[in-house]
Amino acid sequence: MKVRYSYLAQQFGDCDDLWQQLREFVPTGDFTLGKPLAEFERRFAALIGTRHAIGVNSGTDALKLSLKALGVGHGDEVITAANTFVATVGAICELGAVPIFVDCDDSFCMDVAKLEAAISPRTKALLPVHFTGYMTDMRRLMPIAERRGLPVVEDACQSIAGALDGRNAGTWGNAAGFSLHPLKNLNVWSDGGVIVTNDDALDRSLRLLRNHGLADRDTVVVMGHNSRLDTFQAVVGNWLIPKTQAITDQRIANARFYDEHLGKLRQISIPRRIPAMRCVYHLYIVFAEDRDALLAHCIARGVEAKVHYPVPIYRQPALKHLGHREGDFPVADRHAREIISFPCDQHLSEDEKRYVVATVAEFYRGR
Ligand SMILES: *Cc1c(COP(=O)(O)O)cnc(C)c1O
Repeated sequence: MKVRYSYLAQQFGDCDDLWQQLREFVPTGDFTLGKPLAEFERRFAALIGTRHAIGVNSGTDALKLSLKALGVGHGDEVITAANTFVATVGAICELGAVPIFVDCDDSFCMDVAKLEAAISPRTKALLPVHFTGYMTDMRRLMPIAERRGLPVVEDACQSIAGALDGRNAGTWGNAAGFSLHPLKNLNVWSDGGVIVTNDDALDRSLRLLRNHGLADRDTVVVMGHNSRLDTFQAVVGNWLIPKTQAITDQRIANARFYDEHLGKLRQISIPRRIPAMRCVYHLYIVFAEDRDALLAHCIARGVEAKVHYPVPIYRQPALKHLGHREGDFPVADRHAREIISFPCDQHLSEDEKRYVVATVAEFYRGR
C-alpha cells in the first residue's frame, strides 16, 4: 500500500461546483482586489473572529507586512521560535531585522518560560509560531508582551481554526499571519496569505502596504509592496471556507486514532496533548526511538513519513552569521533527532491510517 503525503489530487480531483464558480468569475475580469476577495476577507475575519482580514500574496508576506506596519525595520530584533518553517525567519530578515530565537518545548512551540531572557533593548516585536497546529502558550506570552510594551504578531500559518481556552489562534496578538499555500489546512491553488487584526489603524496601514501604498489610483502615501491575494484564489478560498470545520475535525479524529494506536508502542512517545488547546494537526508528529531507521522503513513500505525538520532553522547555513552552534537550543536539537511526521489529512482512508500504524509496529516488532 502507498500512503502519500500530499492529498491535493484527491481534494481537487472532483470539484465541478468550484470550476463552475471560476467559469462565472473569469469573464468578469475582476482580477485585482475584486469583489470575491472582499467577500473572502469578510468571511475569513468571521471564521477567525477578528474585525479585519486582509488578503496578501503569501503567509510570508502576511508576517512581513504585519511586522513592518508595527514599525519593525533595519537592525531591530524580533523574537521567534528556534524551530519553525524558514518563512517565519525569512519575513524578519526581509525587513533587515534580526531574528532572536527562543527554544521550543515539547508542544513544538516557543517555551514561554525562556522568553524574557531573550528580550533586549533592541527587541521590537514578538513573533510566536503556532507550529504544527499546536499553539504557543499565549496566556503566558501576552502579559509579558504587555508589560514590556512589545507588539505581537502570531505566525498562525499552520493553525487555522486552532484555539486555546476557546480563543482562536490569530486573535491574541496585534496581528496574525495565515498561509493559504497548497499544503496548508485551508489551501488555495497557488500562494496566498491572510492577515487578521482587530486594530482599525493597523488594518488601514496593511491595506496600503499590500497595494503599493496607493490610497487611490493616483496617490502613493507610503512606499508599499505588490502583495495582493489574487481574486481568482479568493474564489477558491470562498469555496473552502465552509469546509474548514469538517477538514479540522477530520484531522483531529485522525490524530486521536494515531495517538491511541501508536501510543501503545513502547518506542513511540506521544507529545503531551493539552486539554485547553484545540490542536489542528497541520502536522501530526510523535517522538520515535531509532527515528532515522523508522523513517527509512516507512518510506520503503510506501508510507510517506517526513521530518519537520532534520536541521532546525537556527542552524541553517543561511543564518550562520548569527553565530549559533548546535546545542544553543537543545530542545529544538532533540526534536530534530527524535520527531517523525505521518500523513494526517482529511482524505486519508481508514485502511491507510491502519497501514501507517501497522508499518510502525512492524518496525519495532521484536526490538
Ligand atoms: C507555511 C508557513 C509560512 C509561510 O507561508 P507561505 O504562504 O508559504 O509564504 C510561515 N510560517 C509557517 C510556520 C509556515 O508553516
